[in-house]
Amino acid sequence: MTDVHRLYDVLDAAAEATPDAPALSVDGTTWSFQELRARADALSAFLSARCSPGARVALLAHNRLEYVAAYYGVPRDGRILVPLNQRLHAREWAEQIVRCGAELVLGEPDLLDRLAAEGDLPPLHDIAGLPSDAPPPEREAESDPADVAWLMFTSGTTGRPKGVRLTHRSLLAGIRVTASGRPVQQGDVFCTPFPLCHVAGYQVLLHHLYGRHAVVMRRYTPSALVEAARRHGVTNLSLAPTMLEDLLAHLSDAPEALDTLRGSLRMIGYGSAPIPVPLLRRTDEMLGCGLNQGYGMTELSGNATFLSPADHRAAITTRPELAASAGRPPEGVEIAVVAADGTRRPPGGTGEVIVKSAQVADGYWEDPEATAESLTGGWFRTGDAGRIDADGYLHLVDRVKDVIITGGENVSSREVEDVLRTVPGVGEVAVIGLPDPRWGQTVCAVIVPDGARPSEDDLRAACRARLAGFKTPRRIEYAGALPRTATGKIRKATLRAGYTNDGP
Ligand code: ATP
Ligand code: MG
Repeated sequence: MTDVHRLYDVLDAAAEATPDAPALSVDGTTWSFQELRARADALSAFLSARCSPGARVALLAHNRLEYVAAYYGVPRDGRILVPLNQRLHAREWAEQIVRCGAELVLGEPDLLDRLAAEGDLPPLHDIAGLPSDAPPPEREAESDPADVAWLMFTSGTTGRPKGVRLTHRSLLAGIRVTASGRPVQQGDVFCTPFPLCHVAGYQVLLHHLYGRHAVVMRRYTPSALVEAARRHGVTNLSLAPTMLEDLLAHLSDAPEALDTLRGSLRMIGYGSAPIPVPLLRRTDEMLGCGLNQGYGMTELSGNATFLSPADHRAAITTRPELAASAGRPPEGVEIAVVAADGTRRPPGGTGEVIVKSAQVADGYWEDPEATAESLTGGWFRTGDAGRIDADGYLHLVDRVKDVIITGGENVSSREVEDVLRTVPGVGEVAVIGLPDPRWGQTVCAVIVPDGARPSEDDLRAACRARLAGFKTPRRIEYAGALPRTATGKIRKATLRAGYTNDGP
C-alpha cells in the first residue's frame, strides 16, 4: 500500500494481487479487478489518441460499470475526469463543460442528446461504445500525485456549484482518513446507491484499496437494494438517513428480505445529516448492525469526522446527545472553530468549522479568489457553523450563510426548523433570515403544509414553548414547494431572494 500514490495504483495493485476477484458489480453484471483494469487501460489509450495531456474529460452518465473505469482510466496518464451531475439541467451541464474547458464528453446517449441541444460543445462520445480492451498505452507523462485527478462540482446548495480540484494526493488521503474512521474488514462487500458524480464515490476506491468488492446501484429502491444484498452478500452499506427510513419501511412488510439483510449486514455508513434518534433505535432493533456517520464535503475529498458504531451504541443507551453529533476526526485530521475574523473560539464556542488535513483539495478551478478565501495556512474553511465539545465531538449547527443574526443574537435556522417540523400539518419547512431595518435580520419560516395548513398561532406557540423568544419566527409564509438542489438540499439563497422586497 506504500506504493499507492495515484488513483490508478489502487486498481493496479489489486489487479496484480487478486486478478480474478470481483471488483465491481452494477445491476447484476460483475467485473473482476483484471477486467476493470483492462477497461481503464483501454479508456486511457482511447483518450491518448484524442486529447492533449492534462485535458479535462467530462462524464455524463448514470451509475454504470464504465463510470468506475473512468475514475481510474481518465487520470491514469495525467488527464482530469469531470463528473457531471446527471440531475442538473442541460444548460448547467453545458456551462460546467465550458467553465472547465473539457476537450471531450463521455456519456449515455439519452443524456448526450439533451446536452447536444445546448449548442457549441466539444465532441460527445457514447461511453458504452468504448473499446473494452487495448494494449495499455505507454505512460506518456507519469502523472504527479499533486496533479488534479477529478474536478468535481459541489452540490450548489449555497450558490453556484464550485469546481473542486481534487488531486491524487488529496483523494488518497481522504480514502486513508475514512479507512481510519470506518475501517474495512476481511470479507467486506460494499454497496452504494449514491450517484458516482458525487464525491461519496471515493468509497468504491477505498474498498478497492483493500481488494474488496464494490456493488454500485444504478438507481436506489429498497427492493433493488435487498436484491443486490442477496446476490452479492453485502456487508457494508452507504445510505442517506432518508434512504434508510425508506428501507426500514419496506423491510417491515418483508420478513424474508429482513432476514437476508440481518444475516449479512455488518455496518451502515451514512452522511449528509445526523440520524434522528427514533430511526437510530429502529435500525438497531430491526437490523442490529453498526452505524457510522461521516461528515465531509467535496472540498475534503470525502469525510473528515466520524461518529463510530460505539458512539451510536452510547447514543442509544447513555448519551442521547451524541446522536446529534458529527463525531470526531481520526488521527491526522485537525478540526477547530473560528469566529468571523478568523480567531479561534474558546472550547465549546460556536463558529465556523475549519479543517487541516492532507485530504483538503487544491482549491477551486480557475478561481484564485474563492481559493484564497477558503484556504489559509493549510486550514480549510468549511462554511459550516458548529462547536466542539469537551470530548472533542463536533456538533454542526447550521451553514454559516444560513445563520440568522437578529438584534445581535445568532439563530440557527436548523434549530427552529427542528421545532416547527413537530407541528401537525407541517410537511416541509425552511427558516431563513430576511433583511430588517430594525433588527438587522428577521426570522422567517417558510412552511409547505402537509394536508391542513397549520395556523401561525400554533407554529409560534410551538417555538415559544421550546426556544428563546428571539428565535420565534416573526414572519411566516406558506408555499407549495421549496427550491432544492439536484441532491435534494434546500436552496436558501434562492428562497431569501424570493421573499426579499416582499413577495416570492
Ligand atoms: P455548495 O458548496 O455548492 O453550497 P454543498 O456544500 O451542499 O454545496 P457538498 O460538498 O456535496 O456540497 O456537501 C457538503 C455539505 O453537506 C457540508 O458542508 C455540510 O453542510 C453537509 N454535510 C455533510 N455531511 C454532513 C453530516 N454528517 N451532518 C450534517 N451536514 C453534513
Ligand atoms: Mg459546500
